[in-house]
Amino acid sequence: MGCVEIRGISKFFGEVRAVDQVELATNEGEFLVLLGPSGCGKTTLLRMIAGIEEPTEGEMVIDGRVVTNLPPRMRDIAMVFQSYALYPHMSVYKNIAFPLRARGMQKEAVRKKVEWAAGMFKIGRLLDRKPRELSGGERQRVALARAMVREPSVFLLDEPLSNLDALLRTSAREELRQFQRRVGVTTIYVTHDQVEAMGLGDRIVVMSQGKIRQIGTPMEIYQWPADTFVATFVGSPPMNLLDRGDTLLGFRPETFLPADAVEGSEGVLTYPFEVTYLEYLGAERLVYGNVGEKSHARHVVSRLPGSLTLPLEAGKTYPFAVALRDLRRFDKKSGLYKEGGPS
Ligand code: ATP
Repeated sequence: MGCVEIRGISKFFGEVRAVDQVELATNEGEFLVLLGPSGCGKTTLLRMIAGIEEPTEGEMVIDGRVVTNLPPRMRDIAMVFQSYALYPHMSVYKNIAFPLRARGMQKEAVRKKVEWAAGMFKIGRLLDRKPRELSGGERQRVALARAMVREPSVFLLDEPLSNLDALLRTSAREELRQFQRRVGVTTIYVTHDQVEAMGLGDRIVVMSQGKIRQIGTPMEIYQWPADTFVATFVGSPPMNLLDRGDTLLGFRPETFLPADAVEGSEGVLTYPFEVTYLEYLGAERLVYGNVGEKSHARHVVSRLPGSLTLPLEAGKTYPFAVALRDLRRFDKKSGLYKEGGPS
């Protein structure tokens, strides 16, 4: 249980095509991430799955049942928002118990459920506190616990980690992933943060301007981007793109290395790389520069592992190379991935 099928769903706000003809189906129990820049339509799509927003066209199916016109409470889903929306005057216990009490569950059964959820999220010692007496991370766990006690078949999360500081985000991410594996509830998670998407998702759905650009595992999305949008939105720094007539030649910064360090049984492409700027980041070095003739030089970035300590200086030119197997070709006009070797 827990399969969401989105069939030709669109949502228009006047002229704005917030979501445009989206087709998507989750696998049972998977962690699916909707990833895209601000305004791409991911929240609107999530709200339509939840039933808070009505689609302009298309059909929403959950576990084989058409739910397009059903209200949220009849969809067997739970949603956690960025703001958590905890009741401030209620204790943590009462917050978590609320959806169960609202359903008329007996007191003793409610207590068992709340204790189960509190154990799952390690918040047992916080049950008597009010939300204002909690840290951001603790509040987030309470919100997740409150959503989880309802045992939904689908869990919808809209940027639930964005209020946390960087360190807490990393640990909250790990916790969320472990928790989702344990419970096995199909989860759809919205974020604009590609690192979060890569770390959490079994599969990632990359969106732009209301449309799906690619659906795939983190590795597929990163290694084999379907178009130049995905190639440059996922990965930091983004994929390098060199203009070759009607083709754009793409390669990831970590594959563009000093020529001596590149092994390519099928061959390599070597370029004189004029270094303009270096950034030392500890675990790695980012080297910015240009390849090609002065008149149409292209800006590219190389990412060197910290273990590669050879000295490089801005203003000098070095032979750098990329193995042919690491090259990706895209059609310049459409931006779409093209099969075939480098041209
Ligand atoms: P963010 O990461 O900034 O939340 P998003 O990808 O979730 O962005 P949406 O909130 O789904 O994007 O918005 C998609 C588009 O629809 C945007 O152009 C937005 O301005 C528009 N939009 C969303 N809700 C409404 C609304 N109620 N009325 C009019 N336009 C809306």
